[in-house]
Amino acid sequence: MGKKRCLYCGKLITNDKTYCDIQCKDNYNNFEQYASKRTKAFLISLSIAMIIIFLGIILMAARKEIGVIMSIIGGVGVFGTFIVLPFGTPETVKLLGVKKTTLIVRIVALVMLIWILVPFLKDAIF
Ligand SMILES: [Zn+2]
Repeated sequence: MGKKRCLYCGKLITNDKTYCDIQCKDNYNNFEQYASKRTKAFLISLSIAMIIIFLGIILMAARKEIGVIMSIIGGVGVFGTFIVLPFGTPETVKLLGVKKTTLIVRIVALVMLIWILVPFLKDAIF
C-alpha cells in the first residue's frame, strides 16, 4: 500500500494515522484556520497583480518603459503574495505536508522575486 505522510510535517506515518502526534494535528488545524481566513485576500491580491501585469504588457507596445515597470510591479505583487501567504495546492500538501509546502512556496517565490528585480535594479543603479 502507499506510504502515508503526516499532513503537517510530512514524516512517514502508519496508515491508521493522519498526523504523527497531537502537536502536528494542532499545527495543521491552526494553519487551516489561518489559510481559510485569508483565501479571499490571497485571491484578490493575486488577481490585482495579474491585471497589472496584463495592462503592463499591453502598454509595452505604446510606452515600453512604463509597460515594463508596470509588469515588474505586478510580478512583485504576485510573488510577494506567495511570500506573505504561502498557500500550496491540496495535492502538494498531501504529498509533502503543510510545513514543507509553505517553505517551498516561499523559496520559489523569493527566487522569482529576485530574478525579476535584479535586472531592473541593475539598470536603475548603473
Ligand atoms: Zn507530523
